[in-house]
Amino acid sequence: MPKRATDPSVNPSDPATEHDDSPSGFASLGLDPSILDALTALGYEEPTPIQMETIPALIAGRDVLGQAATGTGKTAAFALPILQHLHDAHRGKGNGPSALILAPTRELAMQVAEAIHKYGKAMGVTVLPVYGGAAMAQQLKALKRGVDIVVATPGRALDHIRRKSLQLGSVRTVILDEADEMLDMGFAEDLEAILSETPSDRQTALFSATIAPRIAAIANKHLKNPVRVTIARDKTKAGSVPKVRQIAYIVPRVHKMATLGRILDMESPKSALVFCRTRTEVDHLTETLSAHGHRAEALHGGMSQEQRDRVMKKFRANTTDLLVATDVAARGLDIGHLSHVFNYDVPTSPDAYVHRIGRTGRAGREGVAITLAEPREHRFLRNIENITKQKIEIATVPTVADMRLRRVELTRATLEEILIAGELDEYRGVVESLADGDHDVMDVAAAAVKMAHEASGNDRQEAEEEIPVQRASIPQDRPKREGKPPRTVAGTKRKPQWEVAKIYIGAGRKAKIRPGDIVGAIANELQIDADAIGAIEIFDRHSLVEVPEEIADDIVTTLRATHIKGKRVPIRRDKDA
Ligand code: AMP
Repeated sequence: MPKRATDPSVNPSDPATEHDDSPSGFASLGLDPSILDALTALGYEEPTPIQMETIPALIAGRDVLGQAATGTGKTAAFALPILQHLHDAHRGKGNGPSALILAPTRELAMQVAEAIHKYGKAMGVTVLPVYGGAAMAQQLKALKRGVDIVVATPGRALDHIRRKSLQLGSVRTVILDEADEMLDMGFAEDLEAILSETPSDRQTALFSATIAPRIAAIANKHLKNPVRVTIARDKTKAGSVPKVRQIAYIVPRVHKMATLGRILDMESPKSALVFCRTRTEVDHLTETLSAHGHRAEALHGGMSQEQRDRVMKKFRANTTDLLVATDVAARGLDIGHLSHVFNYDVPTSPDAYVHRIGRTGRAGREGVAITLAEPREHRFLRNIENITKQKIEIATVPTVADMRLRRVELTRATLEEILIAGELDEYRGVVESLADGDHDVMDVAAAAVKMAHEASGNDRQEAEEEIPVQRASIPQDRPKREGKPPRTVAGTKRKPQWEVAKIYIGAGRKAKIRPGDIVGAIANELQIDADAIGAIEIFDRHSLVEVPEEIADDIVTTLRATHIKGKRVPIRRDKDA
């Protein structure tokens, strides 16, 4: 059970005064402490709306029909109850899996398997992603060994069922994830065939972004008296939505940090809240922003009241420009006008979005709300537009050239202020003496501008990070049918938008290396988003880590010069990659 605040002046039901370390909202949903610990470690502060409703229903054994798109936290909504059932010793009989999750694409199957691995690691739960395009032999071997949870694309699942390598007789729970996508991709018959292999007394949950008639038909046929879960649409009345200019940038996760940096440079916000989903993200983002010269402070539920008061004092005194916060921490804040609200992560419900953006544009003043969405989260933006009846403008990420122009503009504006302020007599003589010589007055002025530009630091070169330009509209990114996979490596949590390289690190379990040490070393030394780091495997005497190919050599060079756990260790590209 989580610790509870005993100080009577602390109101435990007020999230702003809650500085308990465990995500207590989750504890009230009936999850085991070992699962709660994993959520705390991931920095989750409270369940998302879909989790609040789905988790108790699934734990109670009910079927669920959930309307939820990516970004709502639906993966944890179905994964945590499965883990809870496994914890309660409902393991499959023999070698068969206890749970089967069907997902439309290999990317989603990989992401779901990765998430379950994170949540269930401490419990020793085994999860296997099974999808087309990956080596069959490995999947066969793993299935033979036995796993608790299989996450599969329908085509490959059926393939294994026919080979008898996947036996579903012991399956207790079946999840159909992104069912609408599976139907769009022509998997309807495959789904029927797979479901007919599972026990009829199983528990079934179906998630879909929309509940169109054909989804309802599948639900009618395969779900037993399901609990219907929808993210509260009607709570957000169109009139109650604040009038704020809303902008979104669609960027792959790996480029989010650089994108935010550029937007901050372009917008120069005077006072802004930057929202993240988790404590871990808040801490990481604050550190990175500070390292890049921004005056940023973190604010989350893991901090003591005293720490928060200190941060708020700085913010009110204008010694901090950016407050980086979780929803929970921001909820109780009494702050006046904010020029900007940034959603570093899309919020987990439309309600949360409306709350967040309502922090700016108060008292009739102009406000801007800027959201960074990953390509797969575009649905979220559509959904918000539908609900709020307001337009979200999709903007193109500023290019390096835009940044340079903007900085020249800043220098120009500063010079103009100086011209208006006058009192230049002291310097007029310098201009005159240069112009009396061979120099044109225009050239003298240009030289002075150059000097001012350089002295202000506005001439700094951008780190040449390529940020792919996304189309300036919400993309219709229907996933491709499996079979012609893009190049990727099994087990990475990344979408395969870049090639993956493996790096060998000559220290492992015996040297007490943990994944966090490796992520920390890479993320801190190279200032890259920790999310760019893929799967990490720790062996007795060595470890392997997957990183984007394009920066693999930089990582090797940098890590060679770094200490890991206080020691220099051999680092190289892995030969077997
Ligand atoms: P999903 O909708 O399942 O794709 O999840 C979207 C993102 O939200 C993932 O990055 C999760 O790690 C994150 N997430 C899920 N549940 C929570 C939560 N309760 N608090 C914070 N982040 C969460």
